[in-house]
Amino acid sequence: MLTPHSIIAVIGSGTMGAGIAQVAAQAGHAVKLYDIQPDAARRAIDGIATALSARVTKGKLSEDDRNAAVARISVAQTLSELAQADLVIEAAAEQIDIKQAIFRELAKACSAEVIFASNTSSISITAIASGVPHPERVVGLHFFNPAPVMRLVEVVSGLETAPAVLDSLTGLAMRWGKQPVRCHSTPGFIVNRVARPFYSEAWRALEEQVAPAAVIDAALRDCGGFPMGPLALTDLIGQDVNFAVTCSVFNGFWQERRFLPSLIQQELVLGKRLGKKTGQGVYRWPLDESLPYESGQLSNIESDIVTFSGIELDDLVVQITQGETASQLALRLKRPVVLVDLINDWRKARLVVLAAAAGNTTEQTAKAVRFFQRHGKQVLLIKDYPGMLVWRTVAMLANEALDALQKGVASEQDIDTAMRLGVNYPHGPLAWGAELGWQRVLTLLENLQQHYGEERYRPTSLLRQRALLETQHEH
Ligand code: NAD
Repeated sequence: MLTPHSIIAVIGSGTMGAGIAQVAAQAGHAVKLYDIQPDAARRAIDGIATALSARVTKGKLSEDDRNAAVARISVAQTLSELAQADLVIEAAAEQIDIKQAIFRELAKACSAEVIFASNTSSISITAIASGVPHPERVVGLHFFNPAPVMRLVEVVSGLETAPAVLDSLTGLAMRWGKQPVRCHSTPGFIVNRVARPFYSEAWRALEEQVAPAAVIDAALRDCGGFPMGPLALTDLIGQDVNFAVTCSVFNGFWQERRFLPSLIQQELVLGKRLGKKTGQGVYRWPLDESLPYESGQLSNIESDIVTFSGIELDDLVVQITQGETASQLALRLKRPVVLVDLINDWRKARLVVLAAAAGNTTEQTAKAVRFFQRHGKQVLLIKDYPGMLVWRTVAMLANEALDALQKGVASEQDIDTAMRLGVNYPHGPLAWGAELGWQRVLTLLENLQQHYGEERYRPTSLLRQRALLETQHEH
């Protein structure tokens, strides 16, 4: 049983180890910090002291609490000094042999009750545990960066992990003010797997020259409601780091096509255009914050429309995308068509993204643009692209979340919580999909799959089941 008096050992005092040590110390634990590099742990404690001082200056922490937290962290010079710990959290380099060697070494000094947790973001917990004495005590405890700020913690079980160990860590994470979610050890766990389409659909739109990067990002941010556009986010994370996670998930799933890494991103990595940290990635940094559409005051027009599902403007059909291109629909209807990429509440949508059929006259398309502008919306026109930008991304996120759910990776609630807290999505993808309608999500993906003839857009079996249930309820 872990209690507030349990001693916590943290191995590796880099970005994550230091953050985790800070969290544990602030929660009142004695913390022993070990790093293979001499002085690294000492420097990390100095860094924590500085970070906590900044909180004191901001009035968020008392001087006494800051001093007490810093005093609780001590440096361990050797692994064997960690023998008295009740919980060891390993945040060393992301290499299986290093992690296994650390736990094997520790197992010689620690009793069988000591829990061995790894903060790995991509290595199988089952694989780490294998060969470690008492593998039932080996577990994943995946914090997000920065650990003191991000609330989410994935508690990851390997094949041998004991349920009592999972319960213990779940309780501990809650006492530390974190939100734990449970998942089985599968590539990417929850967040790094379900989030893949957020990035890969943006790369694809860029590859297919649908719109410039700033337009793709603006669509996801100002129309989709995501806190940041996917391409800017990869610059912030670091192209090398984001690419490595994508490759690891892709290979972890035996090169499943829907996780295929992007050639554009690979070029950026090869060219050392790693994003913010090198000053150039998709964008030049610091980021030019100007918007690819007029940023002026939005008009206060009280729209008489509450929800938008479609409209006819003379002979022009204006519809929300269902995964066909505008040109395809225009051919079928034998009328000019403009498609709309609108996914959120019409009243709150600041921006709408439109795509026009190839056969439209300029004046026909302009009618749709003027219609949305009259209702106080900013408008971005992109190439005629099946599923457009926001709808396609959200459908793929929901589809991936259903796939993880169906395969027992985590519960429905934990998947949604993980995506809201781990990557700040405006809604959990499962709740979002249900709200949009599973049938609509299914139709969109079926159209995409037909358009591309690619496995990537195959609707998951649970999506078909949910869509069917929805149809039955309606009848
Ligand atoms: P980092 O490079 O900042 O720090 C790693 C530290 O571990 C270094 O100080 C290094 O000296 C030390 N180390 C290496 N081998 C060691 C050993 N054998 N024994 C003791 N210490 C050793 O890395 P990081 O970003 O803090 O990542 C640490 C772990 O956390 C990795 O497994 C990573 O995948 C995972 N992770 C990282 C993030 C992130 O955003 N950075 C998020 C979640 C999980």
